[in-house]
Amino acid sequence: MKELPVTGSSLEAVMGQLRALQVSDADYHNARTWGLIYNAGPDVDAMLQAAAGHVLLENALNPFVFPSLREMQGDVVSIAAHLLHGGDDVGGAMTSGGTESIFMAVKTARDRMRAERGIVKGRLVIPRTAHPAFIKAAHLLDVEWVHMPLGEDLRTRASDLERLITRDTVLCVGSAPAYPFGMVDPIPEMARIAAEAGVPFHVDACLGGFMLPFLERLGFAIPPWDFRVPGVTSISADLHKYGYAVKGASVILHRPKANMRHQVFLFSDWPGGIYGTQAFLGTKPATPIGAAWAVLHYLGEEGYLRLARETIDATRRLIDGVAAIDGVHVWGEPDMTVLAIGSRDQDIFAIGDALERHGWHFDRQEQPAALHLMASPRHRLVVDEFLADLAAAVTHNAGTSTRAATYGDDVSAEAAAEGF
Ligand SMILES: *Cc1c(COP(=O)(O)O)cnc(C)c1O
Repeated sequence: MKELPVTGSSLEAVMGQLRALQVSDADYHNARTWGLIYNAGPDVDAMLQAAAGHVLLENALNPFVFPSLREMQGDVVSIAAHLLHGGDDVGGAMTSGGTESIFMAVKTARDRMRAERGIVKGRLVIPRTAHPAFIKAAHLLDVEWVHMPLGEDLRTRASDLERLITRDTVLCVGSAPAYPFGMVDPIPEMARIAAEAGVPFHVDACLGGFMLPFLERLGFAIPPWDFRVPGVTSISADLHKYGYAVKGASVILHRPKANMRHQVFLFSDWPGGIYGTQAFLGTKPATPIGAAWAVLHYLGEEGYLRLARETIDATRRLIDGVAAIDGVHVWGEPDMTVLAIGSRDQDIFAIGDALERHGWHFDRQEQPAALHLMASPRHRLVVDEFLADLAAAVTHNAGTSTRAATYGDDVSAEAAAEGF
């Protein structure tokens, strides 16, 4: 068991130890990691370090003490709202990530429907492919949930909503796109059905929020999903994914913005004073705020368009390359830069094992079994090498794998007992 060292170390010594700990970490600098990291290149890395370092110790818990953090969060929310075609009636807040944005969407809908309709125990209707953060939020907020089934084509069917919406439904959800197969749900039809039932509709654009708008501007056919769609009442969009900010940055947007009153928390009967928060966190790190604000200004529309172009080009080459390899295929029809590779006649996880021996990293998923890849701009440099390794793994028939599908942390009973 590790104990606090009695004496301190020099900066050089500590950094040496830290680097030594990282030897087994995924090599994202060379774009061998198809998830978790969204690397826009060394210039953006340096800019993020400078901006994050500059606000390192500030605290957004009380933005009146640090008005710059208040202003930067306002700018980020406003830029996101504008990008997603929200008008003056859209407002929101920065959060620590997609999970918190989704939590706030569920909490806001629950409290609003409680206030307006007297619904005590609410219910969510969520696509099978929606992120588990919705289930987590439902669990923590004591809201029930029901899954929409997935069609043969791996798509969500809007028509299923009609029968699944009940009197106690407080929120329906669609994704733009959903993580597993990278496809955008039929948002206009789903939002219309929800609106007709008087139920709020959330679009989870944690992945697509800062990618789809630029692909649309580049001329790609993107199915409608943002605030231009009537009936959409909230959207989550992660800055720490295709916004290229440092981790800990997302936005939750509401329409009308008056719904924010169901999101905020206020407690005034405390000897410590009035406690108010816009979202979940108390003490709120300034680094993701400063870095998100800075990267939006550093890149501008021009920069995001360039990065979107690079990423979609890498994705298209990847999709075409997979199609050209006999024995593997892409599941569904990805709308963006996220995809899943499967195999009908081989163990795709064994192919994954072979690729990992070449230093590649990706998530694995089941139903159906697949390797999950999220492209980012730097992947354009390695697509050919990846495809060659994939083709070789398929040719050599990798056998069977003992590894399971994973996305997050190890929370097995044994791991939980061990702690960290
Ligand atoms: C990443 C992601 C989330 C959750 O966001 P975190 O930032 O990991 O908490 C939610 N929905 C989708 C579609 C995502 O890709």
